[in-house]
Amino acid sequence: MSDSFKAILIEKTEAGQRAAVVDQPDTGLPAGDVTVRIRHSTVNYKDALALTGRSPVVRKFPMVPGIDFVGQVESSGHADYQPGDAVILNGWGVGESHWGGLAQRARVNGDWLVRLPPTLSARHSMALGTAGYTAMLCVMALQRLGVKPGQGEIAVSGAAGGVGSVAIMLLARLGYQVTAITGRTAEAAYLRRLGATDIVDRSTLAAPGRPLAKERWAGVVDTVGSHVLANLCASTRYGGVVAACGLAAGMDLPTTVAPFILRGVTLAGVDSVMCPRDRRIEAWTRLASEIDGDLLDLVTGPVIGLAGAIELAPKLLAGEVRGRLVVDVDQ
Ligand code: NDP
Repeated sequence: MSDSFKAILIEKTEAGQRAAVVDQPDTGLPAGDVTVRIRHSTVNYKDALALTGRSPVVRKFPMVPGIDFVGQVESSGHADYQPGDAVILNGWGVGESHWGGLAQRARVNGDWLVRLPPTLSARHSMALGTAGYTAMLCVMALQRLGVKPGQGEIAVSGAAGGVGSVAIMLLARLGYQVTAITGRTAEAAYLRRLGATDIVDRSTLAAPGRPLAKERWAGVVDTVGSHVLANLCASTRYGGVVAACGLAAGMDLPTTVAPFILRGVTLAGVDSVMCPRDRRIEAWTRLASEIDGDLLDLVTGPVIGLAGAIELAPKLLAGEVRGRLVVDVDQ
């Protein structure tokens, strides 16, 4: 075991925030009872915000970003983990207030880890990452609240992004009829390949709308917020469920109570960061058995290195990255 590791480090100076690939001594690792040799990480929307400094995601400097990683336990003082165990980490403030996954090594609280399901490869686990795990949490929310295949269309917004792409794959595989809401209608063939049967141009939902619109959706997975979410709530059918997890269009929600009190629509919030352990394990177990590996490869571009993560972050925020980015931390 070497005594230093390669990592992206975000530093803040008077000139602003800057991310660079550095060699970091192990002595800088934060407190924790499990040290992990990371193999792969990924770039989620939140990582791109941290890498660019576009939004105050990083709460402590210097910070190693990366809200996800997969790797092998190197040393452990935690009863559940032994050296060599393959583990995944998502969230818990890692990459925000605790050094994260865009690095070759991490030290974390063992309670935050989940075992890599035996049938899922390390690369595929990061092709999913927080985006895929959140897509599964959204699907689980729809199912828990009674939305069944055959009841009608399910709208997925931010469809060509990470959460959206995986949500379409999962819902289609479970037999739901999926409509992709996208700003990139040129990606229609890709979205249909994932399982969408209809494509709606996001611009038709992006302007302020009426409190109630024609009933269309039996369920919704929304990753963008703002007017799109408000309009999707307004057009959800009587008794339908809207799972909301994202804010790519904005943090606001300019809606009225009409869909909730006149149509009995349920707005279900989905959070991946502090999600309880049992639900995480259920989500990862289901991902391992319900994801089609070939389609996941279609969703994932070429594997990039740490420098590539810094380079592609602004493009991801501009909505120019399709699907998911996997990072090989040794590249
Ligand atoms: P991506 O960047 O991969 O995808 C976001 C997608 O949103 C884009 O591909 C684009 O889809 C759409 N989009 C981008 N800009 C806008 C805009 N201005 N207006 C409307 N739509 C837009 O991000 P992820 O899929 O990883 O994450 C999606 C959202 O979910 C983010 O807001 C993220 O912070 C949030 N998230 C929340 C989690 C939680 O725990 N609650 C966990 C994971 C993610 P298209 O081109 O198809 O329109």
